[in-house]
Amino acid sequence: MRDIGRWRLRPGATVQLARRDAASTEGAPGDRAQTEQATLPLHDELSALQDRLWAESRRALLVVLQGLDAAGKDGTIKHVFRGVNPQATNVSSFKVPTEEEQAHDFLWRVHRRVPAAGEIGVFNRSHYEDVLVVRVHGLVPEKVWRPRYDLINEFERTLALGGTTIVKFFLHVSFEEQGRRLQGRLVEPDKRWKARAGDFAERQHWDAYTEAYTDALERTSTDVAPWFVIPSDHKWYRNWAVSQVLLHTLEKLDPRYPDPAPLELPEGTL
Ligand code: AMP
Ligand code: MG
Repeated sequence: MRDIGRWRLRPGATVQLARRDAASTEGAPGDRAQTEQATLPLHDELSALQDRLWAESRRALLVVLQGLDAAGKDGTIKHVFRGVNPQATNVSSFKVPTEEEQAHDFLWRVHRRVPAAGEIGVFNRSHYEDVLVVRVHGLVPEKVWRPRYDLINEFERTLALGGTTIVKFFLHVSFEEQGRRLQGRLVEPDKRWKARAGDFAERQHWDAYTEAYTDALERTSTDVAPWFVIPSDHKWYRNWAVSQVLLHTLEKLDPRYPDPAPLELPEGTL
C-alpha cells in the first residue's frame, strides 16, 4: 500500500507550516539516487491508469498545484507528468487575471478549465490565488475575499458530485531554499529567463503568505478535496511524493476499460 497519510491534511486539522520540515525526506525509498530510481516505474503506472481513465471516460481527475514562487510547480508538471497522454491531459496556468477574467466572478475562469470526463486536469496555480496573492496585497477588501473559502468548498463539492476527483498539493519550500532557487535563476543561463523582479519582491511578504496559506489550507481541506502538504526542498522527494499521491488516488478510483459493445461488422470487411 502507498502510505500517503503523512502528507494529507485532515479536515479540521491545523497545518503549522513553521513546524513542518520542508527538507523532510520521510518515507522515501532511499537517498536521492535510489528515490529517483524508484520514481521511474511510477511514470508507467500513471500512464497505464490514465489510459483506463480516458477509455472509461466517465470520471475526471483535477490536480491543483500551489506553492510560493520557485516552490516547483512547473518542475512538478514537467517531471511527474512525463509519460502521460497529452490528448487526455489539460494543463492550465493561472496568471494575473486578464481584463475579461477580471470582469467576471473569480471562479469563472477556473470553471471553464476543469477537466472533462476522462481527462486529467492540472492547475498550475488556481482559484486559491484569490485568497492568497489577493489577500496578501489587499487587491480586494476583506469582505470580498473572506467568504471565498466557503465558496471554494462549495465549488469543489460541485465538481466532486459531478464525478471529478480532486487532489490539491501545497509544495512546501523553506525560505532558504526559495532564496537559493531564485539566486540560481540569476546565474544559470538556462534558468535566467525565469527570473522576475516580482518574485524577489514577493519574498518580502513571506510571513503574510505563510498566514494566508495557513488559512487557505486549514479552511479548504475537505474529504472530497484534500490538501497534501509536500516537503519540496528536495525536488526528487517532491516528485516521488506527488507521484505516490496521484497513483494512490487513481488506484482507488480504479477506472475500467468499458465492456466491448457488440459489433455487427458488414460481411467481407475482414
Ligand atoms: P507564474 O505562475 O510564475 O507564471 O506567475 C503568475 C503570477 O500571476 C503570480 O505572481 C500570481 O500571484 C499571479 N496571479 C495568479 N492569479 C492571480 C489572481 N487571481 N490575482 C492576482 N494575481 C494572480
Ligand atoms: Mg513564477
